[in-house]
Amino acid sequence: MSAHEVANIFTDIVARARATDPANARKWFDDLTVVRFDGGSIAIGCPDESNVRFLDAHCRSSFTRAAQQITGHLVTVDFVVGTADQPAETEYVARGGPALHPDYTFENFVVGPSNRLAHASCMAISQSLGQTYNPLFLYGSAGLGKTHLLHAVCHEVQRRIHGSVIQLLSCEDFVNRFIRAIEQGSITGFHSQFRTVDALVIDDIQFLREREQSQEEFFHTFNAIYNSGKQIILSADSPPNEIPSIEARLISRFNWGLVARIDPPSYETRIAIVQKKAHLRGLEISDEIAEYIARQVQANIRELEGALTTIYALATTLGEPVDLRLAQTALEGQIKLATKHISITDIIDVVTDHFDVRLTDLQSKRRSQSITVPRQICMYLARNLTRHSLEEIGGHLGGRDHTTVMHACSKITEAQQSDPQMQALLSELTKRVTQGQQVT
Ligand code: ADP
Ligand code: MG
Repeated sequence: MSAHEVANIFTDIVARARATDPANARKWFDDLTVVRFDGGSIAIGCPDESNVRFLDAHCRSSFTRAAQQITGHLVTVDFVVGTADQPAETEYVARGGPALHPDYTFENFVVGPSNRLAHASCMAISQSLGQTYNPLFLYGSAGLGKTHLLHAVCHEVQRRIHGSVIQLLSCEDFVNRFIRAIEQGSITGFHSQFRTVDALVIDDIQFLREREQSQEEFFHTFNAIYNSGKQIILSADSPPNEIPSIEARLISRFNWGLVARIDPPSYETRIAIVQKKAHLRGLEISDEIAEYIARQVQANIRELEGALTTIYALATTLGEPVDLRLAQTALEGQIKLATKHISITDIIDVVTDHFDVRLTDLQSKRRSQSITVPRQICMYLARNLTRHSLEEIGGHLGGRDHTTVMHACSKITEAQQSDPQMQALLSELTKRVTQGQQVT
């Protein structure tokens, strides 16, 4: 079906749902978009989590009915986070799961001896779902690229196989959705949602420990998917046998396919990763600095990136070029650019002051340029200068979803790369935030 046809059908569905539920329509139906329509189910994109929750709870039946009447098929309806002005992301919204991180692709993944097997098996799987290693079980310590590889598989599958249904979610999401399904008496829907996928990808499966009922449910889900020849991919922080308090029958299934370990990266791989990350952010980096960072940070790739951020934030603050001395200063903390001491409130204060907007505007649903830009800048600065998670940052800015924050960060990064004024503004704001200056 062409995008145009899908759009038309969707418009009709919304119109019909609107007619049957005018009270809710006024407040909740304006910003909906169609994120995916694969014949069997429709994913409707909503601006944020709270919309998803509301629509899920109150409007599912009017949308399902409308969708079935308009299409003449027994389609199901899902509400997910995603909006029309984020087409790049909405394309990737896996069924009901989180949006894929746009940077977590195979292209951006540096392969070395420490992750070669994991990488190769993920590549193989994305070429032929369900036919090579099933399940694939990736494990390794925090920050070594498990989530990155899982997202890369999803990107690749979505690129190659149009209309494929991948369910990617964290183990906690799985557990929470299971609990919610029980509470709402919608366990049948829960079953069918999981058991009709082409691939089920669950990150950090170790969180199933001590969740007996969820383990039981996952066991049946696993069997159903496996028996129908569909793909299962799991990640964890330790090998199957070492995850405490997991049922033996699950552990044995985790070992059925391929178990691939990811080790901490070698020095050479770390250098290559630092260079790749710098490149992705549009930063110039000399070999000397990349090598210096790779020597300083050894065990965790997320911290390699953190080091890069700290160094460039200090350079921006001081208005100096990045050289070895400055890098040492930043990492060894002689001048403490203590990124952890900067709060989101500091950032919001500086940004609202500069743009002369109010916090309540930033937290509101308003989408005018004069509000959106400062809001996105707040998110960008918070992402770069604090250690808060995407969710926490979104929470400070009107309870926005992590995908919205991610989107804001890439927008501002792009703007910064193409627009010297934006670059100057960001460095000015960074300076004020890090120096705690009152803006006059
Ligand atoms: P994990 O899920 O194992 O804790 P992540 O997948 O979240 O780790 O990775 C942490 C960070 O390190 C991410 O930003 C990811 O892009 C990056 N990363 C990890 N491994 C690599 C790699 N081989 N090449 C490039 N970036 C990597
Ligand atoms: Mg992870």
